Amino acid sequence: MDEDRRTRIEANAAAVRRRIAAAASAAGRDPHEVSLLLAVKTQPAEDILAALRAGAHLLGHNRAQELAATGPALAVPGVPAHEMHFIGHLQGNKVNQVLRWATCVQTVDSLRLAQRLDQAVARAAGSAGADAAAGVGTTAADGGGTPVLDVFVQVNTSGEPTKAGTHPDEAPELTAAVGALPHLRLRGFMTVGAHSDDDGVVRESYERLAALRGQVLASGAPGTAGATELSMGMSGDLEIAVAAGATMVRVGTAVFGARPTPEAAGA
Ligand SMILES: *Cc1c(COP(=O)(O)O)cnc(C)c1O
Repeated sequence: MDEDRRTRIEANAAAVRRRIAAAASAAGRDPHEVSLLLAVKTQPAEDILAALRAGAHLLGHNRAQELAATGPALAVPGVPAHEMHFIGHLQGNKVNQVLRWATCVQTVDSLRLAQRLDQAVARAAGSAGADAAAGVGTTAADGGGTPVLDVFVQVNTSGEPTKAGTHPDEAPELTAAVGALPHLRLRGFMTVGAHSDDDGVVRESYERLAALRGQVLASGAPGTAGATELSMGMSGDLEIAVAAGATMVRVGTAVFGARPTPEAAGA
C-alpha cells in the first residue's frame, strides 16, 4: 500500500493513544484502563491491516456485509491477533453472518436479539463447531467449556430518537435477562453519546452509562458481575467519555481520516 497512507495511520493512532493517556491522567485514572477500538467502517482491508500492524488489537464493524467482506483478508496467517466487535445495529437475519466473524456484539438492545444470539451460538457450536462461528469462544469458568459470545448491552443515554439502544430505565432488567442466557457472556455497556456542542450534555449521557453499570454491578443479578466495560467516546469526544469512566473508546475518523460521504461515494 501507499507508504504515506500507512505512515499517516500509524501517526494518527499514536496521537489518539496520547489523547487517551492525557484524558486518563487528567481524570486521575490509569491510562491502561482504557482500550482503543478502531471503528473500521468503510476502510479497505489494507488500511485495517496497516492499523493492526501499527499495534491495534481491537476492531469494530458496523455493518454485517462489510464485516463479512473484509473478514477473509484478516483471517490469513501473519495478520496480528485481534478481536473483532460488532458495533452497529444488528438485524435478526444477519446474526449468523456476524457470528462468523465477530468475537463480541456490543449492540444488544433487546431481549429478542439477545435470545437470537444465544440460540445461534448454541446451534453453531452444535453443528460445525468453530468453523461455523469463528468468534465464539468457550468459557472454562463453568468447567464444561460452554460456547459463549461476549456481549455489551447498548443503552440510549441521550434520549435522541434516532439513536439505537434500550431506554436507561429498562437497561437493568434487560441486563439481568442477558446475564441469565447461557451462551452469552455479559461484558458491559455501550452507548453513542449525545450529539451536542454542549460538553455538559455529552458528559451527562456518558455519566448515565457509568451510573447504570454501578447500579447493575450492585444488584448482584446472576451473570452480571463481569459487566465492567463502558464502551463510549468517539473521535470528537473521547476526552469527555474517559473523564466519565470509559474503559473502551471507539475511534474511526481520528485514525483513518474522514470517511467518504455517501454522496461522494455514489458519485
Ligand atoms: C463510526 C463509529 C464510531 C467512530 O466514530 P468516529 O467519529 O469516526 O470516531 C464509534 N462508534 C460507532 C458505533 C460508530 O459507528
